[in-house]
Amino acid sequence: MAEIVHDYFAFGWRSRVLDCACGWQGDSKGMAMELHDDVTDYACPQCANLLLIVSHPSLEQVRQAAGDGNEEAQQQLAIVEEALQRFPPNSDR
Ligand SMILES: [Zn+2]
Repeated sequence: MAEIVHDYFAFGWRSRVLDCACGWQGDSKGMAMELHDDVTDYACPQCANLLLIVSHPSLEQVRQAAGDGNEEAQQQLAIVEEALQRFPPNSDR
C-alpha cells in the first residue's frame, strides 16, 4: 500500500524509511520519482511498486507554511511570486 502524504510541508516524509514487499528498503531519495500534475509518486526502484504519493501544495498552503517559517516554502513562494510577476496570469501573451 502506498503511503499518501497530504501535507507537502509536513516534516520528515522525505527521510522516512519505507519497506517494500519485495524486500527493498529506503527513503524517498532512493525511490523512483515521477511527477504528475497534482502529485508526485515515489516507487520502489526494484519492483516499481508505488510506495509514496505526495500531494503538491496549493499556493495557499505554500503561503501558510512560509508564514510559519518553513524555509523550503519561503523559497518556493519567492520563485512563484517572481514567476507571477514576470508572467502574470490572464495576460494576453
Ligand atoms: Zn519493491
